[in-house]
Amino acid sequence: MSTLTEQTHHSLIAGEPAPGTGGTTQAVDPARNTPTGPTFTLLGDGQVAAAPRAAAEAFPTYRKLTPEARAAFLETAAERIDRAGEEIIATAMRETGLPEPRLRGEVGRTVNQLRLFAGVCRAGDHHGVRIEPALPDRKPLPRPDLRQRKLPLGPVAVFGASNFPLAFSVAGGDTASALAAGCPVVFKAHNAHPATSLLVGQAMSAAVAEHDLHPGVFSLVFGPGNAVGQELVADPRIKAVGFTGSRSGGTALMATAATRREPIPVYAEMSSVNPVFVLPSAAAGDREALAEGFVTSLNGSAGQLCTAPGLLFVPEGADGDDLAARIAEKLSAADGTTMLTPGICSSRIEGEKKLAALDGVTEVGRGGAGPKENAPAPAVYSTGLETFTATPELSDEIFGAVCLIVRYGSADQLPSAANGLEGQLTVTLQTGTGADRDADAGSDTASENRVVQELLDALELRAGRVLFNGWPTGVDVGDAMVHGGPYPATSDGRSTSVGAAAIERFLRPVVYQNAPGPLQPAPVREDNPWNLGRRVEGTYVAADGRGQSPAEKGEHMAEGDSA
Ligand code: NAP
Repeated sequence: MSTLTEQTHHSLIAGEPAPGTGGTTQAVDPARNTPTGPTFTLLGDGQVAAAPRAAAEAFPTYRKLTPEARAAFLETAAERIDRAGEEIIATAMRETGLPEPRLRGEVGRTVNQLRLFAGVCRAGDHHGVRIEPALPDRKPLPRPDLRQRKLPLGPVAVFGASNFPLAFSVAGGDTASALAAGCPVVFKAHNAHPATSLLVGQAMSAAVAEHDLHPGVFSLVFGPGNAVGQELVADPRIKAVGFTGSRSGGTALMATAATRREPIPVYAEMSSVNPVFVLPSAAAGDREALAEGFVTSLNGSAGQLCTAPGLLFVPEGADGDDLAARIAEKLSAADGTTMLTPGICSSRIEGEKKLAALDGVTEVGRGGAGPKENAPAPAVYSTGLETFTATPELSDEIFGAVCLIVRYGSADQLPSAANGLEGQLTVTLQTGTGADRDADAGSDTASENRVVQELLDALELRAGRVLFNGWPTGVDVGDAMVHGGPYPATSDGRSTSVGAAAIERFLRPVVYQNAPGPLQPAPVREDNPWNLGRRVEGTYVAADGRGQSPAEKGEHMAEGDSA
């Protein structure tokens, strides 16, 4: 049974409904172009301040929770979202046009992310403890007792994207990592999926209440990003921002955060065209599999994935021609599916028109429009490498299933083309079996292997994830994942928004010098009450107390050294 039985719903500030004075909104079912679901009031001028105020009140106690208490809270949130899964999926299908299997997968991912961060809390590596006991007899100067650990930054404002209504939304990766770090969260709901947002927000607030936490640990606010969102980021009680969405939205928030009296970090995941380089040996290989893999990756979720391949570098000549022809053939059998909002659909159509009108750009192939509203045909265009390098607009993201094939004459041209690219979430090398072969095997292989190495040297400086012989869509959420990259993929390429390491964004180090034992916080205390792995006198000591030298841990090795 639906929990959203009322006709009108409101923001949820510190667990309580907060009627807004800024008008109302209702979601649009993009498959039918009709309004759907209840009405939501939007916060008016000054109203959003109640959420950061409550978050700031919650921070002193929330940040001091034990690892176990914080982990248990995150697990309850996961459990509650899981239990509400069927209603969340049905609601999100109406609000986003995304198909059920995709949304079912996203509920699973959201729940698993919360559980992943519960595990991160328990493992405790993020406390980053480093201890150097006092050396009173050290010459020429004694050393003080130094104990470093990492602290949460404070309340975090989080903005989610329309294309991940669950995994990058109310209880998505940014929220989970901020809460795991010890930061209360104020989430600015995306106006494209308000009912989905409220259902998840209710689950979050119920988990807060179930664990007797201060209700300000989590708030959900409705309102236009360029008013309520801006006001939230300008609020002096907010200490960091997590954002996933458009380049224009992300840069607008960066500007606000940078011009505050106290500037704060903004971790914004924005735009990426995810170039894929098909090397000559790959083009000489299984072109049918390449064409199939590419079209599936391009057209999945109507191309509305931040990792969708928007640029495909293909060699000139017979192999490249045949690959392009196979892509056109597969594409002709592919239908468009409903996009997230009518606005996103019209931007995508405009983007394609602009691309098609550029000199030197020709259409390779297209699919069919989908049977429902807002479902344009997937399309692929082509240009030459010279035109591509001379036309910066050709590297712009078109959010949707549109890709540009760039034909190159010689693989030797690729490293310099790669050097001209903007920052990306992903780059992919299709090397076929070329890069696995012995460099001495033959001159063609040796020369391609050299190019692949040069390309890799250029690309690893431009992306958060480098893939070999695969397709960039589909992000594995785990300990080692990086979903980030240099600007404009993200506003700060030093971190990741997906995976366990995302917690680092919401922490900062502090060192206690000569702190008396009773005043030392638990992570750095001599008796190690939280049983954390810690670095003592430069040597990592595992949680079970066993000392390991840096060499045993495999640390401090230069790239290329063997273990
Ligand atoms: P969006 O329009 O930027 O919206 C994201 C959120 O930011 C919404 O809550 C929006 O509020 C708010 N917002 C927009 N402009 C703002 C401004 N000037 N000031 C303050 N807040 C603002 O993005 P979207 O349409 O949801 O998502 C599509 C885009 O996201 C695509 O370009 C895609 O590539 C990118 N994306 C990137 C990643 C990644 O990881 N890099 C992942 C997914 C999507 P309203 O609700 O009022 O619009």
